Amino acid sequence: MVDVMISHLYIAIHYPLNNFTRFRVSMGVTEMSGFTGSCLCGSVEFTSMADPMLAAHCHCVDCRKSSGTGHCTHVVVPKEGFSVDGALNYFDKAADSGNMVRRFFCPTCGSPVYSTNSAMADVCFPRASSLDDLGVVSPSMVVYSSRAADWDYVSPDLPAFETVPEGGPQSVIAEHS
Ligand SMILES: [Zn+2]
Ligand SMILES: [Zn+2]
Repeated sequence: MVDVMISHLYIAIHYPLNNFTRFRVSMGVTEMSGFTGSCLCGSVEFTSMADPMLAAHCHCVDCRKSSGTGHCTHVVVPKEGFSVDGALNYFDKAADSGNMVRRFFCPTCGSPVYSTNSAMADVCFPRASSLDDLGVVSPSMVVYSSRAADWDYVSPDLPAFETVPEGGPQSVIAEHS
């Protein structure tokens, strides 16, 4: 244990500046990491104590309209350990599945911050656009590719689903948790 802590201290001393939010911190026997994000005006900040479980591009109409461009990129994190500092407003809209999606945004600058889905109570979905360190995520799939705008970029290197994978997003998240 002492050896583990010393090695972490060594790393902390020698690599203190690079990607600090991604840096693994030794806290007793539990290793923790995580990342942070914020809105455009800075009055809303969030912290996830956990690393992203998954990130995906969504081209559904609701994501497009709330994005300001062709799609949203959602990060999936455990709700436990996700905290927000600052006042948020939200808008509720049911997805195709009937599940209620609540999109939280900054009431001052309008930036989307994160969303929740009534069918997935244990996770939430910070927007990749709000990350302080963009490198913490690497999107691994595209959903609702059938609704992508002709002018929007859809990566040919990622698995793309016309709507959502069989079993819904829950099944994908379950696979990755
Ligand atoms: Zn703001
Ligand atoms: Zn969507």
